[in-house]
Amino acid sequence: METKIIKIDTDISSSIKEAVELIKNSEVVVFPTETVYGIGANGLDREAVLKIFKIKNRPADNPLILHVFDKDWIYEYAVVKEKSMLNDLYDRFSPGPITFILDKKNIIPYETTGGLDSVAIRIPDHQIALSLIKDSKLPIAAPSANISGRPSATNIDMLKELFNKVPLIIDGGETQFGIESTVVDIRTYPLKVLRPGSVTIEELKKVVGRVEINNSFISPGTKYRHYKVSTTVCMFKNLNTAFDFVKNNNFIKPFFISRQKIDKFDVYNFNSYDELSSKIYRLLYECETKGYDLIMIEEPESKGIGFSILNRLQKASDYFIN
Ligand code: AMP
Ligand code: MG
Repeated sequence: METKIIKIDTDISSSIKEAVELIKNSEVVVFPTETVYGIGANGLDREAVLKIFKIKNRPADNPLILHVFDKDWIYEYAVVKEKSMLNDLYDRFSPGPITFILDKKNIIPYETTGGLDSVAIRIPDHQIALSLIKDSKLPIAAPSANISGRPSATNIDMLKELFNKVPLIIDGGETQFGIESTVVDIRTYPLKVLRPGSVTIEELKKVVGRVEINNSFISPGTKYRHYKVSTTVCMFKNLNTAFDFVKNNNFIKPFFISRQKIDKFDVYNFNSYDELSSKIYRLLYECETKGYDLIMIEEPESKGIGFSILNRLQKASDYFIN
């Protein structure tokens, strides 16, 4: 299958007509969101959804996030018991990188929810994604657009692994946040954070008071191998220990990701965790492409967006040193 890549001009609706037709016809479309690229299909159609699993090689029990247009759509597809909690979170964070876990209505097939009675729903803060949902008049089930186990794609280069596997990719440039949404189970109070993401724990607490965090993160997908590149990845705390690690293990071409200045090796210096979050998957991917044999990443602070990046890097890393 030849993959068509389209760019968007000022009139989004007319540029995405073909994508809308594909979604309506049970086909798969790759599109940008504010977090990462998604690979989407009609979330009400089991055959369409199964195509996503097949293309990604995704385990069938790893549920998908349903992307919808606004709050009315949430009520259409889910049963909301804690209405005031949903209202407060919605008003503060939606559209945006927050995903709500709610009881699903029967119209949602179990293929979409990985066999669960709950459904994950979010409203993306991205004009292309929103137009695709609105124009097709369908909730779009979309996990991150990568082969399972690989870093989530944040630009068209990283989507190369899907070329010839999907009929159409909408190129919307580099995504804004760069890591996936925060997943919160709001079926009961206090909410449970199942996956930390671009909305931070501190921000959630300001809105709902109390939140529960299970450090092993019990969201179904989190048990799988994730964000892996063929280059070895090591998270370090102390720079001198990191230099010793490179030397003692005979790595020849290491790449450092750090706030600190480093002279003897190639390095990406970041100034804030927001910046690191928007670049992290791309950096992993580019180090692999450019043939580095080791990626040394300074361990982020376990707060704010640093906490969410740490969660991803714990999965991506092969080694952890002090
Ligand atoms: P992805 O879009 O690839 O980042 O994956 C979506 C993730 O959302 C899954 O791996 C789960 O961790 C989470 N998720 C989706 N549906 C549910 C659900 N019904 N209950 C709990 N977590 C979910
Ligand atoms: Mg994913």
